[in-house]
Amino acid sequence: MSRVLIIGCGGVAQVAIHKCCQHPDIFTDLCIASRTLSKCEKVKNELEGKTKTKITIAKIDANNYDELVKLFKEFKPEIVMHLGMPYQNLIIMDACLECGCHYLDTAAYEPEDVNDPIWRKKYEQRIKEKNFTAYFDYSYQWEYMNKFKEKNLIALLGCGFDPGVTQAYVAYAKKHEFDTIETLDILDCNGGDHGYPFATNFNPEINLREVSSEADYYENGKWIRVPAMSVKKEYNFDGVGMKDMYLLHHEEIESIAKNYPEIKRIRFYMTFGESYIRHMNCLENVGMLSTKPINYNGQEIIPIQFLKAMLPDPASLGPRTKGKTNIGCIFEGYKDGKKKRYYIYNMCDHQESYKEVGSQAVSYTTGVPAMCGAMMILKGLWTEAGTHTVEEYNPDPFIDALNKYGLPITESHDPIMVD
Ligand code: NDP
Repeated sequence: MSRVLIIGCGGVAQVAIHKCCQHPDIFTDLCIASRTLSKCEKVKNELEGKTKTKITIAKIDANNYDELVKLFKEFKPEIVMHLGMPYQNLIIMDACLECGCHYLDTAAYEPEDVNDPIWRKKYEQRIKEKNFTAYFDYSYQWEYMNKFKEKNLIALLGCGFDPGVTQAYVAYAKKHEFDTIETLDILDCNGGDHGYPFATNFNPEINLREVSSEADYYENGKWIRVPAMSVKKEYNFDGVGMKDMYLLHHEEIESIAKNYPEIKRIRFYMTFGESYIRHMNCLENVGMLSTKPINYNGQEIIPIQFLKAMLPDPASLGPRTKGKTNIGCIFEGYKDGKKKRYYIYNMCDHQESYKEVGSQAVSYTTGVPAMCGAMMILKGLWTEAGTHTVEEYNPDPFIDALNKYGLPITESHDPIMVD
C-alpha cells in the first residue's frame, strides 16, 4: 500500500498517472497536484471508475515551499514524482527532505532565469572547469547526496526515457554483454508526424532551449564543444526508416561519464526534420527563444513563454501523431577478449500509445519509465539511499517492468554503427 504524489499534469504526468492507475496494488492512493486544477480534475474524471487507485487532486504552486510542505504533510506521500518543470527540482527536493519522502524527476535542474547573476557566476565557472555550456547539469542535485543519505531517502534523477531508460541500457549492456565498453552512441529518433508545420513533442521551453544550445560530446575525459546542429548524420532506424540526426548535449552523458569512466566516447544524437530546424532557426534569429523579459505595451513578457502559449500543447498532439519512436544505445567494446558491438532500443507507436492512455509516444516513453522507477522504489527493488541516476541501480527488474508495461526492448548484435 503506497501513497504517491505527482506534481504536474502535463503530457508526461498524464501518462504516468494512467500507468500508475493500472497498478492499484502498488499505487493505492494517488494525489495529482498541479498549477491548473482543471487539468487534474479532467484526468481524475477520466480514470475514476476504471481503476481501484484512490485519486485526489490539489492545486499547487511548486515555486512556493510552504505550499509544498503543507501538502506533503497533509497527504503523507511515500514518494513525490516531480513531472512538472525542472526549474522546481531543488525546491521540491528540499520539501521532500523536510517531510521524509522519496523524490523522482525526469529532467536535470535548470534555472528559469538564466540571466540570474548568482546562477550565471556558477555557470561560467562550470564552463571553465568542464567545458560544457548547457544550462542544465547534475551538480546542483548531486549536492543533495548526503542530505538524502542521512534521511535514508532516495532521490532518483532523470527517470524518463532519455535520461532514464538509456542509462538502464548502459547498466544492462555492462552486466550482460560486455567486460569493457569503449564507445556509446545514444540515438533518439522520433519518426512521428503530427501534421503541424511546427510543434514540440514535450514542453516547448525545455525542448527549444535544449536544441538551440551549443552541442558537445564526451571523449577521453573531456567535453568537446561544437556549434548547435553542426554535426548531422543519417541513420536507418528500425520501424521508422532513414532519418537525419544531429549531435546534441544531453544530461545523461554527464552521469554516464561519471559512473562508467571506462567509456572513452559518449555521443547523443536526436532526429529532426527540415521544417522543425527552419522554424527553430527563424524563431531564434528574431529573439523568440530568449528568456530575458521585454516590455510590450507596458506589460512584461518573456519571449519563450509567450511562444509556448502560441504553440500547440504537447499533450494535445496525441490524436494527430502517427508513426513510431525508436530510442536506444549502440555500444562497442570487449567480451572475453573479443571486440563486439551491441544495440538495444525500444520502438513505440504513437497511435498505440494514444489508444492506451490518450497521449502520443514522446509523453508515453517518458511517463512509463517514471512509473516503473517509482515502482522499483516502492517495491524495495532499488534501495540505495542518496541522489542517484538510473544507471547506478540494478537494471534487470527495471527492464523487466518496461518490457511488461509498454516499452519492450529489441536487441541487435550486429548493428550498423554511427561513423
Ligand atoms: P508540460 O508542459 O506538458 O507539463 C508541465 C506541467 O507542470 C504542467 O501541468 C504545468 O502546469 C506544471 N507546472 C509548471 N509549473 C508549475 C508550477 N510552478 N507549479 C505547479 N505545476 C507547474 O511538460 P511535459 O509533460 O512535456 O514535460 C514534463 C517534464 O518531463 C519536463 O521537465 C521535461 O523536460 C521532462 N521530459 C523528460 C523526458 C525524458 O525522456 N527524460 C522526455 C520529455 C520530457 P500547467 O498545466 O498549469 O501548465
